[in-house]
Amino acid sequence: MDKVSLVVPCFNEQDNIVPFYDEILKVFSEIPEAAFELMFVDDGSSDETFSRIAELHDKDDRVKCISFSRNFGKEAALFAGIRNVTGDCTVVLDADLQHPPALIKEMYSLWKQGFQVVEGIKQSRGKESKIHGLFTRLFYRMISHAVKIDMANSSDYKLLDKAVTTELAKLGERNTFFRALSFWVGFKTTSVYYEVADRASGRSKWSTKSLMKYAIKNMVCFSYTPLHIISIVGIIFVLVALGIGIDALCSYIRNSAASGFPTIVFLLLIGFGGCLISLGIIGIYIAQIYDEVKKRPQYIIGRRIG
Ligand code: UDP
Ligand code: MG
Repeated sequence: MDKVSLVVPCFNEQDNIVPFYDEILKVFSEIPEAAFELMFVDDGSSDETFSRIAELHDKDDRVKCISFSRNFGKEAALFAGIRNVTGDCTVVLDADLQHPPALIKEMYSLWKQGFQVVEGIKQSRGKESKIHGLFTRLFYRMISHAVKIDMANSSDYKLLDKAVTTELAKLGERNTFFRALSFWVGFKTTSVYYEVADRASGRSKWSTKSLMKYAIKNMVCFSYTPLHIISIVGIIFVLVALGIGIDALCSYIRNSAASGFPTIVFLLLIGFGGCLISLGIIGIYIAQIYDEVKKRPQYIIGRRIG
């Protein structure tokens, strides 16, 4: 019998735990050839999430839990999950039922056909603002360019073979980007499509600010394009400066030098602006390198069930 592990990151999801579990029971009643292990990763919840999971475990020992000492973020939760499961394959999905569990059946059958990574692709992006949509499209274009795979509409909902989770678990980096790393490791990949459901209960943990931080962190993690842009902008500045220099020289020779104060101020401002932006971008990369060099763990496990 196959064993499917489910990794479910939870941050203050007390009202979603039991409905989620019920859904999973329903799904696996339709896959009699597979057993499951349900690994909740409690990401430092301050509500009743942990005790709800503990109650479920008392009834059903297939329910397990790793609980962090504080909130370390969803990425850390996903990696803690895949490092601690024992199944032949692992499905990663959200606790709020936005990733429809009914899809597990299709993912499982694709895995049985020999696919090692089954990516859940969002058919629609659910409820999002226009600006958010524009921003995510830009972000994913850059990341797609970096991993050389089209990542538009990709999500954290996916099935990974044991071979894949073993490789992912070995990665030593702290600033992980699960969604892109599952492409990066390679293996035989296919996709399934789904509609993002509305959140079952509670609120999304993402604010615009935290999404911006997430995007910048992951861009740095996967792309050197911003550093290349700096060099290109630098070259353009030098070329413009050369052009202006030559023009000034010609004017001087023709004895018709223009009164150049505004031009100088303009150029100075552009130059300083460019330098500051470049320094900022380099700073972000250095901060991330610093983060990696410190070698602090990505998460700390406080309690365990099962
Ligand atoms: N989550 C987490 N740690 C966090 C934030 C979120 O483990 O710091 C979990 C959350 O409980 C949920 C999943 O990650 O199961 C997706 O979070 P959310 O629904 O807030 O994000 P959205 O669906 O709005 O992108
Ligand atoms: Mg959600």
